[in-house]
Amino acid sequence: MKKNLLILALVMGMIFSFSGCTNKNNEDNSQKLRVGVTISPLKDFAEAIGGDKVEVFSIIPDGSDAHSFDPKPKDLNNLINTNMFIYNGLGMEEWIDSVLNTIENKDVKVVEASQGIETIEILEDEHNEDEHEEDDDHEHSGKDPHVWLSLENAIKEAENIKNALSEIDSDNKDYYEENYGTLKKEFISLKSEYETKFKEIDNKDFITGHAAFAYLCRDFGLTQKSIADVFGEGELTPKNLEDLINYCKENNVKVVFSESAASAKESETLAKEVGAKVEKIYSLETKEDNKSYLEGMKYNLETIYNSLK
Ligand SMILES: [Zn+2]
Repeated sequence: MKKNLLILALVMGMIFSFSGCTNKNNEDNSQKLRVGVTISPLKDFAEAIGGDKVEVFSIIPDGSDAHSFDPKPKDLNNLINTNMFIYNGLGMEEWIDSVLNTIENKDVKVVEASQGIETIEILEDEHNEDEHEEDDDHEHSGKDPHVWLSLENAIKEAENIKNALSEIDSDNKDYYEENYGTLKKEFISLKSEYETKFKEIDNKDFITGHAAFAYLCRDFGLTQKSIADVFGEGELTPKNLEDLINYCKENNVKVVFSESAASAKESETLAKEVGAKVEKIYSLETKEDNKSYLEGMKYNLETIYNSLK
């Protein structure tokens, strides 16, 4: 009898441990969605909307240049097992084809976050035209990719991410909608605060390191002038420097901004020439100073506002 019980116990134990395995598998399946992203704002949006349903990682290490990043085979392999991959598009990720080729035909939902945004054409300014005269098919010609630096566009990118999450995980659609609604409210409130502030000042022109802020300017009726072009290329030639010095003097520019993507040294050279000071501004392409997207945008708007008022 005791022996029978022992056998029964062993059999039950096996059944339990087997069902334990099954349960564990079920748990694995219902675990968080794995979401791979490129630039830092997309990580913030996906985390804010996905909440505890997602695990988001960026394939670009913090602090590296997002335009010219070169994904290694291990970065690419890491994306095969994700549920979703989100990138900005519009030529922001110059290296995107290697990623898209890797996850093609895999079960990965691909989201181009800038879809549906009204884009700004890149107007090459005079010095760049001279440089590129015989280079008609310059690889960057086309649209300005820095859409997230507009709060208006950030709402659209967040909406695209929300829709994609709801599509692959419809059980949690309401949860994603609610988180998106909260995020959207924060973006709208920050935008309207600075619409009022910028309306009250006459000075609307600022100088920055690389021309990343066209969409921010569009939101608030401002104008940017830059040392390097929209892709962080182009250098400060004596002719450019002279043009910028004249511009600063004519427009009474007191601050020259500098981002990590561009050369701070060149901003300093210009600032010194015109007696301005150099201040930091964030293109937010990678995470800097541990600032979230919203904190970075608040900082940018307040810093630009203070330099103009
Ligand atoms: Zn950039």
